[in-house]
Amino acid sequence: MILHRAIAIDGPAASGKSTLARILAQRLGLIMVNSGAMYRAVTWRILQLGIDPADRAAVVDALRGMEIQCGVEGLDSTVRIDGIDPGDALRGEEVNSAVSAVAAVPEVRECLVSLQRDYLKLGDVVMEGRDIGSVVFPETPFKIYMDADPGVREARREVVGEVDSVAARDKADSGRATAPLKVADGAAILDTSGHSIESGVEAALEILAGQGFVMPAR
Ligand code: C5P
Repeated sequence: MILHRAIAIDGPAASGKSTLARILAQRLGLIMVNSGAMYRAVTWRILQLGIDPADRAAVVDALRGMEIQCGVEGLDSTVRIDGIDPGDALRGEEVNSAVSAVAAVPEVRECLVSLQRDYLKLGDVVMEGRDIGSVVFPETPFKIYMDADPGVREARREVVGEVDSVAARDKADSGRATAPLKVADGAAILDTSGHSIESGVEAALEILAGQGFVMPAR
């Protein structure tokens, strides 16, 4: 099996990971994998099944019976759960407030990390999340930890009309026992507070070049 390369982008909610990962995927010809969408999809199904996201035993039990299909459409990752694409519901308020509890369950993480690593069978990836550089692909030299002031991050969510308690999710994601959000060994920190999208992309490309990423010829 040929193992492909991975760029790991981690950071707190609304730090600009998805925007950066999408642009890098387009410019560098990589598959963009949104690992948060996988945690969100499992959470959406848990809620749909009427299970309390805080009931770990029930979450694990439900997980065992779930069919999680991860794929690619164009350069974007897709996720279907028990044959359903949850679509916009993934970013709804209910999922926002329950996802950190579900993502803290070790069995959920084990299952999704394995599916995330499987993407390398399909090609080179840029994957964004919380533990990509620390747990999913710790060996990759290409790691960026994105950050931005809390006020800037909250405002970004409000602009797109999302109800999301960014601070509460960050607290839970950083404080959990398994794979907490942290700066991975070897990751370069990119603070996007004062950056435009384009200048953030340029800064990321410079970081990656410094980490030895060979850019494709234009
Ligand atoms: O990236 P996004 O904000 O969509 O992620 C939603 C939630 O999924 C996070 O708040 C976190 O609880 C969980 N997550 C995670 N590990 C990842 C990606 C997301 O725990 N690699």
